[in-house]
Amino acid sequence: MTNVYVMEKIPEKIIIPLKQHDGCLCTPLVNKGDMVSMGQKIGECECYDSAAVHSSVCGEVISIEKAANPNGTKVNSVIIKPTEDVECVDFTPVKDVSASKLVDVIKDAGIVEHYGTPTHKVLRPEGKQIDTVLINATSSEWIGGHYDTSAQYASQMIDALKLLMKAAGASKGAVVLRNDDLESINAFDHLRVDGKLLTVAPLMGKRKLSYYFKDMGSDIIVVSQERIYGQKILDLLTYNLTGRRVSFCCDPTDVGVAICGVKSAKALYDAVHEGRPYIETVVSVSGKVNSPKKILVKIGTPFKDVIDACGGYMGDTGKLIANGAVTGVAQYTDDVPVTKMTTSITVLSADEVIRDVSIDCTHCARCVDVCPVDLIPSRITAFADQGRFDECRQMNILNCVECGRCSAVCPSKIHLLQLIRYAKNSIENAYEDLSSKESPANLKLGCGCSGGN
Ligand code: SF4
Ligand code: SF4
Repeated sequence: MTNVYVMEKIPEKIIIPLKQHDGCLCTPLVNKGDMVSMGQKIGECECYDSAAVHSSVCGEVISIEKAANPNGTKVNSVIIKPTEDVECVDFTPVKDVSASKLVDVIKDAGIVEHYGTPTHKVLRPEGKQIDTVLINATSSEWIGGHYDTSAQYASQMIDALKLLMKAAGASKGAVVLRNDDLESINAFDHLRVDGKLLTVAPLMGKRKLSYYFKDMGSDIIVVSQERIYGQKILDLLTYNLTGRRVSFCCDPTDVGVAICGVKSAKALYDAVHEGRPYIETVVSVSGKVNSPKKILVKIGTPFKDVIDACGGYMGDTGKLIANGAVTGVAQYTDDVPVTKMTTSITVLSADEVIRDVSIDCTHCARCVDVCPVDLIPSRITAFADQGRFDECRQMNILNCVECGRCSAVCPSKIHLLQLIRYAKNSIENAYEDLSSKESPANLKLGCGCSGGN
């Protein structure tokens, strides 16, 4: 089983940002000089698009100030100096709650998807009905928490899926594994769920989830498929799995699909069975550190302490990146905290940092070959570079899932992903209502919010 190392050393300070999600900033519930316990709620907001924040340690609040955040901005944060004594709030398991109470439990426990949306908002979006819940384990196998065995991981995920379905009021649910993650596939295969043996079904051809729900005679299934990279993969994942198309200005909840990660599923499991709020998370540390590993850390732990726990930097550091070398955010300091949205820390050496100057496109078409949504990145970015955004739209730039593959393969080192993001932002800001202007004839995505297979 893939081992997750538990960081035992308590850092000298913990930085808890009052906003670790898309949505409203929490109001601090503590003041400078207050003593806080581990698990104590220290920030909350009445707004529905917010999630509570908790102290991950026992200690003294030394300040509440704007602090550097891994998303590249500064966020109002509660800075805590931990004490040696560990005092915890009483964690009370939640038993037999109604669906609406379960939604309150999720918000109160501060559970947030790694892509930023509070989990209760994904499950119960205002004015929308969810019929299918997916746990996306295609990119983060084992990374959701600390498990003793692979079977424990699998059974906790199935339990969490049932809780997520109950909270969403959904009738169907699926765990989606990566087809080369044999360890997870073996763990789920032949697990007994509601008296039936599970079989992991590889998604093949044009068969969608609806086929497997029917074929297996079950409302809970486990499937496997290829890994899909990128920050905005959820629309593509929704299409691949359900055949439902998601427009650029919408998200999977608009077509009745709630997608949760392994981390939030584990956090919900812990909130219900142990009464624990979301105060620790697993981060994958890779690159030029002496001992790369997956490590369970307290939320708010500065990157530099996580790197120290991984044996420290190896040689000269060129770049520190949060959430992936291809599409992540480069950091200007390692004094930024691990947040609920942090999945990985990558350290590049000075030699590995690409400092090449872009040259002209040679029309090699490598970017076209790798694009998972059949775009022509070279043409789109040529228009983006000239500010010709209407042409970008005509070439379906809004379908780009920002996977970064085109940038990674371009031999001319053209900053394709950056140009695409620049053009998409410009388009988004230029039109108030994108959906009404979106062309209905499109590739795999972006054809409006109607469901269907
Ligand atoms: S255009 Fe580039 S970043 Fe966008 S989906 Fe295609 S390969 Fe990925
Ligand atoms: S990979 Fe780079 S050089 Fe090749 S066609 Fe695409 S943009 Fe041009």
